[in-house]
Amino acid sequence: MNPKQQPSWAGTPEHARVLSELGTLPPLVFAGEVDVLKSRLAAAARGEAFLLQGGDCAETFSAATADRIQARVKTILQMAVVLTYGAQMPVIKMGRMAGQFAKPRSSDVETRGDVTLPAFRGDIVNGYDFTPESRAHNPQRMITAYNTSASTLNLIRAFTQGGFADLRSVHSWNQGFMANPAYHEYEQLAGEIDRAVHFMEACGADFEALKRAEFYAAHEALLLDYERALTRTDSRTGLPYDTSGHFLWIGERTRELDGAHVDFLSKVKNPIGVKLGPTTTGQDAIDLINKLDPEREPGRLTFITRMGAGKIREALPPIVQAVRDTGAQVVWVTDPMHGNTITSKNGYKTRRFEDVLDEVRGFFEVHRSLGTVPGGLHVEMTGDDVAECLGGSDPVVEEQFDSLYETVVDPRLNHAQSLELAFLVAEGLAR
Ligand code: PEP
Ligand code: MN
Repeated sequence: MNPKQQPSWAGTPEHARVLSELGTLPPLVFAGEVDVLKSRLAAAARGEAFLLQGGDCAETFSAATADRIQARVKTILQMAVVLTYGAQMPVIKMGRMAGQFAKPRSSDVETRGDVTLPAFRGDIVNGYDFTPESRAHNPQRMITAYNTSASTLNLIRAFTQGGFADLRSVHSWNQGFMANPAYHEYEQLAGEIDRAVHFMEACGADFEALKRAEFYAAHEALLLDYERALTRTDSRTGLPYDTSGHFLWIGERTRELDGAHVDFLSKVKNPIGVKLGPTTTGQDAIDLINKLDPEREPGRLTFITRMGAGKIREALPPIVQAVRDTGAQVVWVTDPMHGNTITSKNGYKTRRFEDVLDEVRGFFEVHRSLGTVPGGLHVEMTGDDVAECLGGSDPVVEEQFDSLYETVVDPRLNHAQSLELAFLVAEGLAR
């Protein structure tokens, strides 16, 4: 059986040339970092840390600019501060960044009027413009994806290691008008953190650890050509690591047990995730654990549930119970985005912020009632002031879509909505 969701470029000379070039390029991440992340995720599985994964549905080559990368990193750092303060535990910061370029599609083609062309599969495969040239599958794009990932990661490392992420600058990360309730609440929290920091400084505490933040890169391991070509043997251990990102996940559409994606990720040592939608059974989850984490290695496996606000309270408990009863420890993460997609009256793919919040509430309720650990949050968000998801305390309305809707695939929370969500999650964790 052919792997699902792959481009139609196999067999061309250019394809072979690109794969051999990718195979010689340096790794984007190092196995040692990947191992540290796994130990952090093991803590999240035990309830001693919380995972925050955020970023675009689909990164694009043209949006990989310093301003936009900085805005996204800053927003994730702000969300993490809110969560750390609320939960009083470490937050593992991870971007859907530096590699989130391949998208699964429900249809191979897109029709506009009487023109039918290949569907957009992400910048790593083809272009978004609706022309035959742009929509053709082009293997050379894998090299551009690698280079864009490298420059994105370089900037993330500079921001998070070079002083920008210093906790003493929590105030300066704030942007926007204080009339916005989320910004106002953040400003108050930043003030509290400042006072605590000054108090500790006066007591002579050492703040070296506050200067830098660990920040990890994650994406869906969808495009197997790219992932295989970037898989390297770690010289320390002789084991294979997918060096395209620290954390890779399998999407809802490609998670069948005997499929190529599960097979590939079962063979690499990275910590990995699997998206679980509302049709997942407890037995499906157990089968995935046995295949992907047979050794029950702490931090190896994360289940990212994306049920929909209306379904989570019924669909999640049997899965969590089944896993709990086997004694396996996974990280349970909520993705409150992908089960809540709707089409607005004016024709845009959107999500209601209220549904996003409700799925998060449902996630906490289910784990609290079963005595299991709510271990993380996975969101599609941006640091920019876009209008793509409806609602929030400074509400986004449909009429804004024509001018402020930018995403090329799924709608993202904007900067203020992201912060507002972080406050709600912090409340859930503080209980
Ligand atoms: C995504 O994360 O953008 C995605 C396609 O999710 P899922 O596999 O859960 O549908
Ligand atoms: Mn998406």
